[in-house]
Amino acid sequence: MVCLTFYGGINEIGGNKILLEDGDRRILLDFGFPYKRHKLFYEEYLKPRSGAGLLDPLTMGLLPPLEGIYRDDIEPPDLWQQFRSNPLYRRPDHIDGILLSHAHLDHSGHISFLRNDIPVYATSVTAFIAKAMQDSGKSDFDQQVSYFNPTTRECPTGWKQIAFITGNVPKQQRQFCIADTDLKNLSPNALQFWSWGFWGKTSKQKELTSCPMTGHSKCSFNLRCFPVDHSIPGACAWGIETSSGWVIYSGDLRLHGKRAGLTRKFIEDAASLHPRALILEGTNVLRETNVAEHEVYENGLKAIANSDRLVIADFSPRDVDRLLTFLEIATDTGRKLAILPKDAYLLKTMRLLEPEIPDIVQEDSLVIYQDTIASKYPSLWMRNICQEYDSKIVLADGVKLAQDQFILCFSFFDLNELPSICPKPGSLYVYSSSEPHDEEQEIDFRRLHNWLKHFELKGFGLPVESNGEWEIPGGEKGLHASGHACGLDLLEIAQEIEPEILIPVHSEHPNSYIEHLSNSNINVILPAVGGTIEI
Ligand SMILES: [Zn+2]
Repeated sequence: MVCLTFYGGINEIGGNKILLEDGDRRILLDFGFPYKRHKLFYEEYLKPRSGAGLLDPLTMGLLPPLEGIYRDDIEPPDLWQQFRSNPLYRRPDHIDGILLSHAHLDHSGHISFLRNDIPVYATSVTAFIAKAMQDSGKSDFDQQVSYFNPTTRECPTGWKQIAFITGNVPKQQRQFCIADTDLKNLSPNALQFWSWGFWGKTSKQKELTSCPMTGHSKCSFNLRCFPVDHSIPGACAWGIETSSGWVIYSGDLRLHGKRAGLTRKFIEDAASLHPRALILEGTNVLRETNVAEHEVYENGLKAIANSDRLVIADFSPRDVDRLLTFLEIATDTGRKLAILPKDAYLLKTMRLLEPEIPDIVQEDSLVIYQDTIASKYPSLWMRNICQEYDSKIVLADGVKLAQDQFILCFSFFDLNELPSICPKPGSLYVYSSSEPHDEEQEIDFRRLHNWLKHFELKGFGLPVESNGEWEIPGGEKGLHASGHACGLDLLEIAQEIEPEILIPVHSEHPNSYIEHLSNSNINVILPAVGGTIEI
């Protein structure tokens, strides 16, 4: 019998953690960071204590109580006694691997807690983006997906408490198994990127390996990896052949992006397997229409072409398709797109795998904006980027003197640069991202409006609050193509794949599938948090 147990991604958008068991064989489908539950208890200045290791996330229900699947080095003594009476407590024998759908942290973040001998199966782009994000980010101890610093339990002199300390312990890289490319196809530069940061005796590197689809198999399941379109490159859906038939896991996907053809091919291939079950995301299941990426280009171009002042574009830079859309707008309006060093690092990384990604040196319309208050000891990746692209660096003064020449890729968290730039009144803030989803984001949105008011910037496409609802003003819509398919597209995906069982995840409105598929041959089953569905 095949059992699916859902530890995350139920009645919430993200945090997917699904355990698939078939006799002795076990595999995890994503192991994401549960933002919604995390925000119930924590905020910027109240975080799980890294020194307490597994204790805080297990106690607060951020991790499922599964003994034996987590890293030994962050396990406090007698930890499990505390959880053995928990109804979800189990001690699974072993886990064969994690199938990672894409590099968004709500799908990947909590891999940081898993044992290092559990391999991560992913596409090459996902593996590389996960590493680039970690190399260039301030990743907390609960978001170290690609590698981690093992801890030792120490009792610092004079202190009575014992905590987990990361000291001079070698960094450990996780074992990634690449599902979509033969490693022979990777360039020496790509392989060098993978080992970057792991030198000599001070760190332990794990070579990349190939996945079962491309040859040597360590995984006990027959797997299929289907590339799909989402708001981050490298996303995929998975097929797992079980003793009850094929189980398909969609990850996050859409049919209206630049790579929609990938999702179409996935639908066709998955349908031909006549799956027993489809685990399908439902983020936008209530939404009736989509905005396509070319509409973002057209609407953005119209707004920016009319401006003779500075333009700030706010979007997620990991959405490389969106970055390329704004690069096109910059070229077509005679401006330069100024990206941050971490975005340059991501582009450079992507280009190692996808040569069609523009070369920063060659691309006339692309420059790199370096923060005004530089750190005395910049990280090595940052130093490398700034040296390699020295001729492409612009500083606040350069932007200040030629405001109509730039589109700055800033988000809310980069607004601190504005006092150095002094944007002229009437400069444009183009918002190309999603509306606020929770109270914390609403507070940030109010702050963002205050910044705009203070500097007399004009918002465009920016949701405005009225009677407690956030709405984009009429005439300014169509500046954000969601990473997720709308309701009609999701139903089309379900109907064309036609599984016997459909299990909605990653959705606040899973009931919508029941309402719309009641007259079909598809049996919709809603999972409960920690609940098991036998198939
Ligand atoms: Zn995603």
